[in-house]
Amino acid sequence: MTSQRTRNRLILKLQELGIKDERVLSVMRKVPRHLFMAEALASRAYENTSLPIGHGQTISQPYMVARMTELLIEDGLPENVLEVGTGSGYQSSILASLVPRVFSVERIRPLQEKAKQVLAEVGFRNISFKHSDGGWGWKACGPYEGILAAAAPEEIPTNLLEQLAVGAKLVIPVGKEGEQVLQRVTRTEVAYEVEVIEPVSFVPFLHGKA
Ligand code: SAH
Repeated sequence: MTSQRTRNRLILKLQELGIKDERVLSVMRKVPRHLFMAEALASRAYENTSLPIGHGQTISQPYMVARMTELLIEDGLPENVLEVGTGSGYQSSILASLVPRVFSVERIRPLQEKAKQVLAEVGFRNISFKHSDGGWGWKACGPYEGILAAAAPEEIPTNLLEQLAVGAKLVIPVGKEGEQVLQRVTRTEVAYEVEVIEPVSFVPFLHGKA
């Protein structure tokens, strides 16, 4: 149930759903998603679905991880990426397989501690973690050539926009439950350009630490 064959089937599914970036497909073919969830759920790890990881949160759906990563790196691989919402650490592992440095912020401490442990066991050394409200971003390590958020605010926090380097992209779900859309914001010299990508369903972006 957690074999390479099962994982290959998931990759075929992602391709059917329109994921084209070979760099993304290739890392998702390798990373063992089943290690990022409770053993009782591991047999479902290669289904294209989000699954509970405790504390009312979920590991993102593989299609969503692939799509957001594809949108983030379309015009070139960023040197550094800020991730908001470490969760299980699965999206962090996909980013860290592609870019030199990942900075990951999570507001629920036990989730981040678990993710940290799994990512270290799998062998990732290029991810830094911070237990904080991602609405603040992580200014000291920015500006970022890419920012990806896995929780949906009703409006994009200005800190995240300010911590984008010129030319960089922010991929983020925005909106109230039931009305969310995935957005890609590109910072230019003079403005922020917003592209609306598709309707999505994410957990809400909450404030403060837990
Ligand atoms: N990419 C993760 C997604 C986890 S779900 C994965 O695949 O496992 C989204 C995560 O965002 C949750 O863990 C939630 O606690 C976190 N989150 C929500 N609002 C946040 C905020 N303001 N700051 C940091 N993390 C936040």
